[in-house]
Amino acid sequence: EVDIPAVLRSVVLSLQPVAEKQNVKLIVEGAETSEMVPGDHDQLTQVFTNLIENAIKYGGRDKEVHICMTSHTVEPTMRSSAIRVDISDQGEGIASQHIPRLTERFYRVDSHRSREMGGTGLGLAIVKHILNRHRGRLRIESHKGQGSCFSVILPYE
Ligand code: ATP
Ligand code: MG
Repeated sequence: EVDIPAVLRSVVLSLQPVAEKQNVKLIVEGAETSEMVPGDHDQLTQVFTNLIENAIKYGGRDKEVHICMTSHTVEPTMRSSAIRVDISDQGEGIASQHIPRLTERFYRVDSHRSREMGGTGLGLAIVKHILNRHRGRLRIESHKGQGSCFSVILPYE
């Protein structure tokens, strides 16, 4: 059992220095009470670390990243109650043709720019792998010029 709000708080705390370097504000909403889901603590920490790190990195300087948790969402595609965490940024967004490929290993939208920014292009592939093992989902919503929202959906049972 993993307390998702506690994981979110600790990930935000550990990425605070990274955010401060870019003058990015990390804002957590809806994560006041504890909500337990079955799963592996370290793996789920990795999921939120990778997604929030991306939001900081690709969201741009002087912007905000919102991390918003909703619980007891009944997901029509899942048949069970679930927790959902939306991680949204105010970056350039992602053109729709790239979205289905983002979780492929080493796939990067702008490989030249991404190389300059560092990293390997594995972050989202790891997220997808871990969420599959938890019977969870990753939903990506983004429009060029309007920022991105990555949603993690984790079933309770
Ligand atoms: P790594 O995570 O291994 O350090 P990475 O961030 O490039 O490297 P992923 O996290 O897998 O790799 O992301 C893949 C690509 O998806 C990125 O290179 C970037 O082009 C795009 N991407 C991911 N998150 C965002 C985002 N929030 N906004 C815009 N583009 C994004
Ligand atoms: Mg990444």
